[in-house]
Amino acid sequence: MKIVVTGGAGFIGSHLVEQLLKAGHTVWTLDDFSNGRPEFLSSLKDEKRHTLIQGSVLDRRLLKRLIDKADVICHLAAVLGVKNTVDDPLKVIEGNIDGTRNVLELAYPRNAKVIFSSTSEIYGKNENVPFHELSDRNYGASSVHRWCYATAKSLDEHMCFAYSSKGLPVTVLRYFNAYGPRQTNSQYGGVVPRFITAALRGEPLEVYGDGTQMRCFTYVDDTIQGTIAAINAKTNGLAINIGSNRSITINELAQLIIKLCDSNSPIITKTYAEAYGPGYEDMPARQPDLTRASVLLGYQPSVVLEQGLSATIAWYRGRS
Ligand code: UDP
Repeated sequence: MKIVVTGGAGFIGSHLVEQLLKAGHTVWTLDDFSNGRPEFLSSLKDEKRHTLIQGSVLDRRLLKRLIDKADVICHLAAVLGVKNTVDDPLKVIEGNIDGTRNVLELAYPRNAKVIFSSTSEIYGKNENVPFHELSDRNYGASSVHRWCYATAKSLDEHMCFAYSSKGLPVTVLRYFNAYGPRQTNSQYGGVVPRFITAALRGEPLEVYGDGTQMRCFTYVDDTIQGTIAAINAKTNGLAINIGSNRSITINELAQLIIKLCDSNSPIITKTYAEAYGPGYEDMPARQPDLTRASVLLGYQPSVVLEQGLSATIAWYRGRS
């Protein structure tokens, strides 16, 4: 198939592009290199079925040229990260909403399939884990910037479902805490790269809050497995959680990373106010119900956390 991957030079996108090419597809990667890096795709420089284009999903003319070639668009380009959300809410809102609207509007007349990358952040501070795809969203006040990313992604999902009801084949994938090699945006949050970087330098690992908050960290190969299954499946008009089923506290994660890095780094705690500024609300737990992914996509997360973290640490060691 002919596939356009927006954000394809980023952390998840670059792994997806590599796997799509391995599966025999022809791929156009669009990336503005805000988070993505051309070197993440350097192994593909002689690959004739791959074209890398520097540009933005906000550039409609460029995007149209690409989408006009495509059977499938995997829309991963996004403005993400806690720091962006808190520091530059307008960039988050415009980048996410305008980009997704462009993709959907241009895909619609061609009936091209859209796979939209959404997020577990969608569920907000709903405390009833595990989250099923039909679980409620629960956000704080709109005057708190912290909620603008979840709100923008929610509106994106609404647009996806609105286009789906007009006949466009759209699937929404909600990724839960993906991690792995190339996740380098540590200044924008991302606890795994932050902890690994600190542990390898012998610096303190900063746990925000009391560290009892839980997450299900998902190795990027599993994230890609779910994404490729969705490209091949008929799941139009549905949201599907893609994650892992192992919950771990942030305290345990810090200890595990120190052990795997063979590091002497101390663990220190910071309040949320110290980390993110006043008014930040964190989620005590985030866990996906994976029934739908399993039934509709045959998805099963297969990389255990220790394995995935070791591979990620090896990648970081190779960079230093
Ligand atoms: N966190 C932390 N120390 C850090 C970065 C993050 O304790 O240096 C915490 C963060 O407050 C959250 C969890 O780790 O409770 C996961 O954060 P991340 O930004 O990776 O993803 P989130 O699940 O918040 O989207």
